[in-house]
Amino acid sequence: MKFLHSVAVFIFGSAIGSFLNVLIYRMPRGLSIITPRSFCPHCKKSLKWYENIPILSFIGLGGKCNKCKRPISIQYPLVELLTALLLLWSFTKYSFRIDFFFIAIFFFILIVISGIDFTHQVIPDILSIPGIFIGLVYQFLNNNFLMGLIGALFGGGLIFLIRILGGWAYKKEVMGMGDVYLVTLIGAFAGFPMIIPAIFIAALFGSIIGMIYLSITHKSKDNPIPFGPFLSIGGASVVILHNQIIQFLRNFGIYF
Ligand SMILES: [Zn+2]
Repeated sequence: MKFLHSVAVFIFGSAIGSFLNVLIYRMPRGLSIITPRSFCPHCKKSLKWYENIPILSFIGLGGKCNKCKRPISIQYPLVELLTALLLLWSFTKYSFRIDFFFIAIFFFILIVISGIDFTHQVIPDILSIPGIFIGLVYQFLNNNFLMGLIGALFGGGLIFLIRILGGWAYKKEVMGMGDVYLVTLIGAFAGFPMIIPAIFIAALFGSIIGMIYLSITHKSKDNPIPFGPFLSIGGASVVILHNQIIQFLRNFGIYF
């Protein structure tokens, strides 16, 4: 029975991932998220139901549009798979407790923000700001409101400070307000002090992958690398690896 539930949650998660792909594509372009039905981004042909099955259609069509034969971005099946796996993880961890719904929403918001920041270098406030309030409601229901609020203020405040100081030092924007709101959101969900390792993981991943990216592409350092996906990795990591991170820090004598 547990297995059938898990299969159902995975399939449902991949369908939500399909919708998150729609949001990632349409929100930054100012398109309606309801109509029209899904279409090929190249030739605009609307997709038949069997061309729109999460994960499977991409494999079945060999990663190409059925009509114009131009490649479909790998982003589509990846977002569907990632959403399905994260929903399955939430279900395995929380079953149908209230945490399941809130943590699932947290993951969904992070996926959409990462996708939009990755493709358009912008983080929509319309996702991050309501997300902050959803995070604080979650902490309130868990009798952890104060730690959620401190996590939000600490995280957002720290990135805001980096934005101000970086702006003075480099005479250009080092952190957007989108990043400030995103870290506030992560702080609300992760709470204090887990927002600290979340930012640390984001900075670590961001600098390693940023250096690899710059050395492969030979692009200049002025070319901004979106930080949202790395912040999202940090935020999701401290939720998923909560106990392991606490244990890891204890080995270094750091007690949370
Ligand atoms: Zn096409």
